[in-house]
Amino acid sequence: MSNAILVVGGGFAGLTAAIEAAELGHDVYIVEKTPWLGGRVAQLNKYFPKLCPPSCGLEIQFQRIRKNPRIKFFTQAELIGLSGCKGDYTAKVRLAPRRTAAHNVDFSLLASALTGETDSEFDLGLSKRKALYKAMPFAFPDRYVLDARALSKSDMARVAGAKFIEPAEEVREIALNIGAIVVATGWKPYDVTRLTNLGAGSVKNCVSNMQLERLASPFGPTQGKIVRPSDNCAPMNVAFVQCAGSRDQNHLNYCSYICCMATLKQCLYLAEQNPNVGITVYYIDLRAPGRYVNVLEKVKARPNVSFVKGKVADAVQTEGDRVKLTVEDAVRGEKLTLIYDLVVLATGMQPSLAGEKSFLPLPLDEDGFVAGGEEAGIFAAGCARMPLDVTRTAQSGTAAALKAVQTVKGR
Ligand code: SF4
Repeated sequence: MSNAILVVGGGFAGLTAAIEAAELGHDVYIVEKTPWLGGRVAQLNKYFPKLCPPSCGLEIQFQRIRKNPRIKFFTQAELIGLSGCKGDYTAKVRLAPRRTAAHNVDFSLLASALTGETDSEFDLGLSKRKALYKAMPFAFPDRYVLDARALSKSDMARVAGAKFIEPAEEVREIALNIGAIVVATGWKPYDVTRLTNLGAGSVKNCVSNMQLERLASPFGPTQGKIVRPSDNCAPMNVAFVQCAGSRDQNHLNYCSYICCMATLKQCLYLAEQNPNVGITVYYIDLRAPGRYVNVLEKVKARPNVSFVKGKVADAVQTEGDRVKLTVEDAVRGEKLTLIYDLVVLATGMQPSLAGEKSFLPLPLDEDGFVAGGEEAGIFAAGCARMPLDVTRTAQSGTAAALKAVQTVKGR
């Protein structure tokens, strides 16, 4: 029997659950797939409710983890097996090699000397990264990763002799004994390339809302300047296409909850950078729950922002890499054809478990959200359960931690 808790996923929900459980006196193991903790929030420029940068909320959580010896975390780690039962599980975890020294070493000079490059996952393909890299300045753990697949031939010779690099480090497997599990596997942006009528993946200046977050971030590919990917020029008119993939039985059959708010926030980013930029938001419904209605009113009051109730039927590339939208205006009953410098698709959130092989004995609903498992001592948190904003994600992490703690209490 174990009173330790496994948290699968090191995003906002998982970190909150881990910290709460550890601060109640339990040993906690976090298993995170990527090389750093922080999840999707780390990729944002700012987040609600206070519109602060991700470093402010995450830094507090990282500090609490640093100070709490009960929390152990494994990055580049995947659950590959689970046996036992509630109160006495054995989790098998595979650890991919990081290939850099375990203590903080600044590899920036060596990294910049490497020639091999690949698309940056963190910047969602908007930039390239080296084989030796760190995704963001406030990365936690503050360690580089050596991605051997991205090394060029000359890079291989360079890293082979480098101090604190271990090119031959192998995959390892460990076993953890735990009593309960929090599943905080989070969400992935809906694959925009499936929205072929909306130009995703084929029209150069059609980006997703998450890509716009990276463009607006001071640590992003353009150091925070929102520009068109095709020519790095600031756009003078921008369209947002709401429900891009959501509320559509051919894609995501539900409302993704956050994408209306994301668009309102991004209207403010654009207006801050250029008060004269023209913005049109095409929507079916606008959802600004609770106190967020104030943000909607604030954006609506701006002279250069207009809202059109209507479905975007088509986006095609036109002269000057501009984007031509065909829209059915639902209020006027007209078909509109308009041209924009940049189009942002308000793409929805899909649970990370959707369509993935998982070793967790969990029922998923038809959309891939966790729909049970509590009787087995497995508790879903955050966007693994349903689409949520960051505040509700944190609340959900706390709730899952309390349930997990009650499961193992006294064991
Ligand atoms: Fe559509 Fe808004 Fe719901 Fe997103 S939050 S799916 S944009 S209604």
